[in-house]
Amino acid sequence: MTIQWYPGHMAKAQKQIKERLKLVDIILEIVDARVPESSINPMIQELGQNKPVLLILNKADMADAQKTQQWIETFKKRGITAIALDAQHKAKLPMIEKVAQEILADKLAKKRAKGIRNPVIRAMCVGVPNVGKSTILNRLMHKNIAVTGNRPGVTKNQQWLKASERFEVLDTPGVLWPKFDDPAVGNKLALTGAISDVVYHADDVVVFALDYFKQFYPNQLRKTYQATDADLEQSSPELIMILTKRLGFKEDYDRFCIKFINDARQGKLGRFTLDPVPAEAKGND
Ligand code: GDP
Repeated sequence: MTIQWYPGHMAKAQKQIKERLKLVDIILEIVDARVPESSINPMIQELGQNKPVLLILNKADMADAQKTQQWIETFKKRGITAIALDAQHKAKLPMIEKVAQEILADKLAKKRAKGIRNPVIRAMCVGVPNVGKSTILNRLMHKNIAVTGNRPGVTKNQQWLKASERFEVLDTPGVLWPKFDDPAVGNKLALTGAISDVVYHADDVVVFALDYFKQFYPNQLRKTYQATDADLEQSSPELIMILTKRLGFKEDYDRFCIKFINDARQGKLGRFTLDPVPAEAKGND
């Protein structure tokens, strides 16, 4: 799903998400593990009025595994609980409920003390487009059992989906707007698919990506596009011209740029993480 964001849309989305977040105990903010910092939404604390957040670094299968671990440590230092997931494989999904229970341990203990024997956790998924919100929701459900309830605060079109006896998730995820102000963030979000095709220039994104891949993942350029050492010493615009020809696209540079972006989005360029891990997480402090 690609969405273009205008200030009016953002204000409307913000209002709707804020209303729905009132209904939940915990917010599941989904980010793309390849851009954990760039795809996070800084407004979520405010929108959720300081409700607990579990940050889910999804698409971990496409990210640099070591950097994903370092990002999880970084978030921990910032007071944010984060886990890594690959929503296409079900095995790790029960972690969401388990960690949500840990985060909400005090609240659940209080409910038990009041005589509620099996307190239910209610959650909602939020995140920028294309990070895997719908996939996670679908995979979380045992049999797609929808719990409609004439429960207060839930409109006719909304349902609680039952992930387990004690874990319910609102059926419609909250679509958050991406950050636009920093062009580097825009390029990263375009490369991972959170920003729609009409908002960016493919050649800008690819120049940015080649600069980054030459530095951090040169082997992946060698492997995917048969880039030679001499090629990798060229400037990124030069490299676009070289690789366009090598792929037989003659002078159709746009064709190469679009292919490159699609390859990156589909994992054909190998695993990568575009947000550098802050220095403090790498050290042995
Ligand atoms: P949403 O816009 O946030 O709801 O994102 P979707 O759930 O529609 O997912 C966007 C695309 O990413 C789809 O093609 C999914 O199949 C794919 N996807 C979702 N989760 C993962 C994941 O963990 N790993 C990989 N490789 N692809 C995923």
